[in-house]
Amino acid sequence: MAETCDILISGGGIAGLTAAAAFASKGFSVICADPAPPVTERDAEGSDLRTTAFLQPAQALLERCGIWARLADHAAPLQIMRIVDAGGARPEPRVVKDFNAADISDQPFGWNLPNWLLRREMIARLAELPNVDLRFGTGTTGLFTRTDEARVGLSGGTQVTAKLVVACDGRNSPMREAAGIPVKTTRYGQKALAFAVTHPVPHDNVSTEIHRSGGPFTLVPLPEYQGQPSSAIVWMERGPRAQDLLNLAPAAFEAAMTERSCGLFGDLKLASRRTIWPIISQSAERLNGERLALMAEAAHVVPPIGAQGLNMSLGDLRSLLELAEARPESLGDAQMLAAYHKARHNEILLRVKGIDLLNRTSMLAPRPLRDLRAFGLNALYSLAPVRKTLMQMGLGVK
Ligand SMILES: Cc1cc2nc3c(=O)[nH]c(=O)nc-3n(C[C@H](O)[C@H](O)[C@H](O)COP(=O)(O)OP(=O)(O)OC[C@H]3O[C@@H](n4cnc5c(N)ncnc54)[C@H](O)[C@@H]3O)c2cc1C
Repeated sequence: MAETCDILISGGGIAGLTAAAAFASKGFSVICADPAPPVTERDAEGSDLRTTAFLQPAQALLERCGIWARLADHAAPLQIMRIVDAGGARPEPRVVKDFNAADISDQPFGWNLPNWLLRREMIARLAELPNVDLRFGTGTTGLFTRTDEARVGLSGGTQVTAKLVVACDGRNSPMREAAGIPVKTTRYGQKALAFAVTHPVPHDNVSTEIHRSGGPFTLVPLPEYQGQPSSAIVWMERGPRAQDLLNLAPAAFEAAMTERSCGLFGDLKLASRRTIWPIISQSAERLNGERLALMAEAAHVVPPIGAQGLNMSLGDLRSLLELAEARPESLGDAQMLAAYHKARHNEILLRVKGIDLLNRTSMLAPRPLRDLRAFGLNALYSLAPVRKTLMQMGLGVK
């Protein structure tokens, strides 16, 4: 069977679903395929318990494609980013620095939302758009391109002809592999545990990143859960330690995480399953192939520090949208895709490098190096213009 559309999106994760809503809101016809059925309930097996902190530019994009109205009531604002160095002899805060959004904006830095809920609300938004065909349970299986069109094979035997293929099919992107685009990968031997907690001390919309060794321990505000203050935690450690933590009985795990949090929020209680994620950095050698654009984790993967991953992905999407809108008749041609690569690639490489450096600094085990890290944080923070520039760079507005 043969079908046609303007844009075939391979992958219906958060990036692919947002891309589908964004292009369809601009009038393009979209087919979005993903072999994995979405899990849209918090406590269901396989639910994605990570959260995404949408920084200001990402929020604006969600607003434009009609998704934000569905999310606003579920979002926790992030007003302050608190960096804590706890790299001394004992796990206690020794340097605490607050980056306040009020110094650079009248808005919070961003808004935090659980990934399972994002999927639910994004799918509901897509159901309102007649020009999107969302196909869960269907994967892309092959890519054949010519200068004027792409043909994509779907599992089940359908062939789709499209002007543009957007690969949002994750870090092992089958479309990227079919186009023969190489990637550079860095492995840290590190994993992240992601889960939700409740705690007696309110978070006051402060996101707190605590550095000791093994990687950051980050608490990101969530709305109250069962009447208690609640946060999402991303706890990065070397692989074997992360695996041991995953296997601890709940009471022992709660004691370990309360200690790792330096007790800043009182006794932490688990409020969800624990999930575990391998941590790598990766960047694709180029973002374009014939009739193909790579975006999101198909193009770049970073450790979860500073809420950069998906926010970079939405930066990719903004760039693709602008180019598509400027010359809709040339959607997916070589000139458009070269311009996309040029607009995004250097910035992506810079951010991947920057986050790699932050992660290595946070993993440091030797005491003298941890002391140097605390000194560096103090020094950077004390320079007000540097502090503001760092905040703007983190937001992606500089
Ligand atoms: C612990 C953790 C916390 C994070 N926190 C944040 C944060 O606060 N803020 C932030 O911005 N980022 C964060 N990130 C990063 C963010 O989660 C990722 O950038 C984002 O989830 C990646 O989305 P994606 O859609 O590119 O990839 P994925 O979610 O991996 O989606 C890829 C999709 O492609 C599908 N697929 C696979 N094969 C095929 C095929 N053949 N055909 C079609 N589809 C296919 C898969 O089924 C999958 O649904 C975090 C990451 C981790 C690990």
